[in-house]
Amino acid sequence: MSEHSNDKPVPKPLATPNIGIPSTRIPSKIKPPKMNSLHPAVVHIQSKEPGNQDENAPSQAKRPKMDPPRYPPPLSKPAGTGLKRAHSALSLNVSTCSSTISVARGRSEKKGPSVVNRVTTNVKASVPPAKSKKTKRPAWDLKGRIQDIEEQFLVSRKTNDELISQLKLNEERIALLEGLNSELSQDVQCKESKTQEANEVLEQLQKSLREKEEKLTTVRTRKESLENQVNTLQQECTGLQSTIGQLTSAQAGLQAHLEATKVILQQAQAENEAQKKMIQELQAKLYDKENKICVLETRTRQDEQTRRKLHNIIQELKGNIRVFCRVRPLLPNELDEIPEEHIPHIAFPDPDNREVQLMRLSDISLNESSVVGKTKTPVKYDFTFDRVFCPLSNQSEVFDEISQLVQSSLDGYNVCIFAYGQTGSGKTYTMEGPEELDLTLDLDSPCLGMIPRAVQQIFSTEQELQKKGWQYKMDSYFLEIYNEVIHDLLVDSPSDNSVKHEIKMVGKGSELYVTNLTTVIVKTEKRIHQLLKKARKNRAVAATKCNQHSSRSHSVFRIKLSGNNSITGETCEGTLNLVDLAGSERLKDSGSEGQRLEETKNINRSLANLGNVIMALSQKADHIPYRNSKLTHLLMNSLGGNSKVLMFVNVSPKEEHFNETLNSLRFATKVNQCQIGTAHKKVK
Ligand code: ADP
Ligand code: MG
Repeated sequence: MSEHSNDKPVPKPLATPNIGIPSTRIPSKIKPPKMNSLHPAVVHIQSKEPGNQDENAPSQAKRPKMDPPRYPPPLSKPAGTGLKRAHSALSLNVSTCSSTISVARGRSEKKGPSVVNRVTTNVKASVPPAKSKKTKRPAWDLKGRIQDIEEQFLVSRKTNDELISQLKLNEERIALLEGLNSELSQDVQCKESKTQEANEVLEQLQKSLREKEEKLTTVRTRKESLENQVNTLQQECTGLQSTIGQLTSAQAGLQAHLEATKVILQQAQAENEAQKKMIQELQAKLYDKENKICVLETRTRQDEQTRRKLHNIIQELKGNIRVFCRVRPLLPNELDEIPEEHIPHIAFPDPDNREVQLMRLSDISLNESSVVGKTKTPVKYDFTFDRVFCPLSNQSEVFDEISQLVQSSLDGYNVCIFAYGQTGSGKTYTMEGPEELDLTLDLDSPCLGMIPRAVQQIFSTEQELQKKGWQYKMDSYFLEIYNEVIHDLLVDSPSDNSVKHEIKMVGKGSELYVTNLTTVIVKTEKRIHQLLKKARKNRAVAATKCNQHSSRSHSVFRIKLSGNNSITGETCEGTLNLVDLAGSERLKDSGSEGQRLEETKNINRSLANLGNVIMALSQKADHIPYRNSKLTHLLMNSLGGNSKVLMFVNVSPKEEHFNETLNSLRFATKVNQCQIGTAHKKVK
């Protein structure tokens, strides 16, 4: 307030008679009202002044910036208008003065009661009290009384002047207050507009607040979900912590185990070192052994060559044509006819199993000149062969004797094994085995014939020879010659007679081949057994078409063995022919007709030609009649000088077959007497 009184000088009091009221008091009393008592908004505005801000009040900081507070205008500005009014008021009397005061009071009451009230109070206080203490003049003292009245008048006049000056002052104050009031009104308007702005700001702030609240809600929701997540994660964390705990304990266990393992490892390493040393020693020894093996292998190969030579010498010494006689046992149905199992007309006198003796016991008519009529004296016929197998001999024993020839075929020689004899003498049994035998399943059967056994030997020996560097290629065919016509036994449809098979030369050489014939390259033993089974089936089909077909045809199983030694560079090529000849029984041509006659002629011719060929070979004849029959033509290369021939002469134990047996043994003896020139190993 002191600043205010300095900026706005108080107007001087008028030169009016002093009526007891100090002229300087009124202005000092009529000070601008305290702003905070006029309008509460001022307080707020004032408080926004720089330097006046209460930094502790949080609301002030966010409020918008407002104009500085407006204080009451300086008194100098309205002073001019105020003086004019004061002068005009001089003419007013005391009565108007009071009314003016009442008007001023009324105005001031609107803004603030304090100023006018104080003026009124001062006026009342300045009126001198009546001279009540003066002694009342006697009625006669008119002069005295007039003097009193004049004094009173003067006092009243003085009072009146003071009041007038007071009134002027008051008017000035009123004018001032009005100016102040209008300014305050403007100020109020200003404040109101500010307030409105502030309200707008407030609204915006409220809106912003709502948005913030919405955001807050969203944030709270998010926070809740995050809290949930946090809870879940905490649970997971707890689970993981427990897992970690378990793992930690497990790790401890593993650590202990690891330590133990390390100890074991160290021991093992030590052992390993020792073993390494041992291995080195062993490797050195192994190296020595390998060298020795190498030397031995070389020696073995040389030995193999020697063996082959020696083996061949032995075979040649044994004869390149050998004849084995085999007498089959009596069959169960034949035992009924003969009371004992013993065969009375056949004897085996030689302990070395080289002789067989036929004895004519009964009255059997023979076309023999030595036998005259009916006689009770047994006539004996002795025959000697390379080997004689009695009825008790089994397949294995028989094969043992021919296995050396199978070996010869692997060594590169051509080998031919025949089974000769009358029908029912046991040729097919010897070559293949009993009819009921399954050639693919019963491979361990003691009844297995020479063909499956030869195949087994070839494959087992081939494996042995592989170690010595030999590799073999094997191909085989299976055919039959019936009525001088070749039939392929490895075809899928045996009834197809349209395919013709001719025997032809390969180029200009001596090697033969059969046209349109199925030749199978065999890699496994099992495959050969399948082929044998198939051939047997095809023969059976042919047999149903023609009675006794199988016994009226020659069957030839051939396996060609081409060897190659990758180490020594040697090669060899041998063939093994296993021939089941047609029944050798002589049928009287006169009794036969048509096909049967043709069959008989062909069989007789081919078997006789076989004998002739062997004979011619032994006699080293210029012409060997190979081409006189399909059989000898086919086997040309396996019957010549560089081949080995074995003939089984199969004999029936039945006495009724005596004559046929005798014929067979005589034919076989003729063959056995032949000596074919030294066999030569066939080198490619
Ligand atoms: P072939 O072929 O000469 O006509 P088989 O081989 O068919 O004669 O033999 C005739 C019968 O005699 C067949 O039932 C056969 O099983 C049987 N047989 C032949 N030789 C023997 C033998 N050594 N042991 C047992 N049975 C045999
Ligand atoms: Mg047969």
